[in-house]
Amino acid sequence: MPILKPLILSSLLFPLSLLANTPQLSAQENLMSNYLAERKNEQLLFLEKLVNINSGTQNIEGVKKIGEILQAEFEALGFKTRWAELPAGMQRAPTLIAERKGSAGKKLLLIAHLDTVFQKDSPFQKFEQKGNIATGPGVIDNKGGLVVILYALKALQAAHALDDASIAVAMTGDEENNGKPTSISRQPLIELAKQSDIALDFEPTIRNHASVGRRGTAHWLIEAKGNEGHSSIIFSKEAGDGAIFETARILNQMREKLGGEDGLTFNPGIIVGGTKTDYDKISGRGNSFGRTNLIPQTALVNGDIRYLTAAQRDLAKKKMEAIVGSNLPGTSATFQLDEVLPPMPATEKSLGLFKRYSQISQKLGYGEMQLLPANLRGGGDISYIAPYVSTSLVGIGAHGSGEHSPQEHVEIDSLLMQSQRAALLMQELVQPREKID
Ligand SMILES: [Zn+2]
Repeated sequence: MPILKPLILSSLLFPLSLLANTPQLSAQENLMSNYLAERKNEQLLFLEKLVNINSGTQNIEGVKKIGEILQAEFEALGFKTRWAELPAGMQRAPTLIAERKGSAGKKLLLIAHLDTVFQKDSPFQKFEQKGNIATGPGVIDNKGGLVVILYALKALQAAHALDDASIAVAMTGDEENNGKPTSISRQPLIELAKQSDIALDFEPTIRNHASVGRRGTAHWLIEAKGNEGHSSIIFSKEAGDGAIFETARILNQMREKLGGEDGLTFNPGIIVGGTKTDYDKISGRGNSFGRTNLIPQTALVNGDIRYLTAAQRDLAKKKMEAIVGSNLPGTSATFQLDEVLPPMPATEKSLGLFKRYSQISQKLGYGEMQLLPANLRGGGDISYIAPYVSTSLVGIGAHGSGEHSPQEHVEIDSLLMQSQRAALLMQELVQPREKID
């Protein structure tokens, strides 16, 4: 059967009253589940509309347009909405915030983003559907997540489950290329996190997987210096070993001593060396000049490191500094490490929430959920709020792959499945009895 049926035909085929009720679901759960099944074509058309509007991070107008479309939808659901503007100099779109305040259950924070990596001049601009697959810029990252949030909340509304709930939705406009410094651009998100009990992140995921942690990322820079001299006297006492051998030693020891540690990866992304070098961290471009008969006086390596916890980062940093500090003769080296994204460690509470999510999935007939290890997830906005929320689920948006490439695609049937899972989970969490931990 074609997936995209005209709405009217779909409702003839599946009138609400004739939708099978799943016996293990409560009346309210059945209502939400059926509400969503009834609207799966409408949801897909809504996704198509969002994907066909370019919202590359630098296209501030486009990002805002996506936000305005959603703003109207959230207002219709009784949410109060506002834009959290960033300083003009950042040249980034604001964060759209939609909030409902109530007194029942847990306070939820739902996170997604309006922007994509595909700028206005990218050749990848259109939504295209083939069977159960739809390709398009941002179709899962993160517009699929946006429609999962919206429809899950619509289902809650239809089941009167929103009435006394506290739910905030944060839709950032600069997730793919954060406004700098992030201590300012992530502030609206952090403020909301401080008032929330549970954070749910609707970034894309692999089918039937979710995560409870994300790795942190830092960038590191090694700069080695060597003595000037003719190649014929290298390794002599006065000439020493040169900056390039020193760099090779450092990198090899790092690989031998830290490589293979669980959850830790590091990668020297670029190296320049010779008699003279220059390098620009921002553009990733460097120049070097050298001769085969000159001992290199300078070498520079820039790389990244990813880790599960701050403790793992600190230990790795200590080991790297020790390696960098035990120089070859006639050389010296410096090491600098700057965190760009904090780690979001898995907590017991998050694991507990994951188990409940998996039970809901089984109740819906979709089977158990699998835990996607933090190592296999990139960073994301939720990482910035990890210190402020003890309970989080990561990657409960649309299923698919190829994000950040023209192969980005969504598995269309996952929109309904993920919306049902999210709706049932949220409905449980906003129950009055959830107040007690
Ligand atoms: Zn994303």
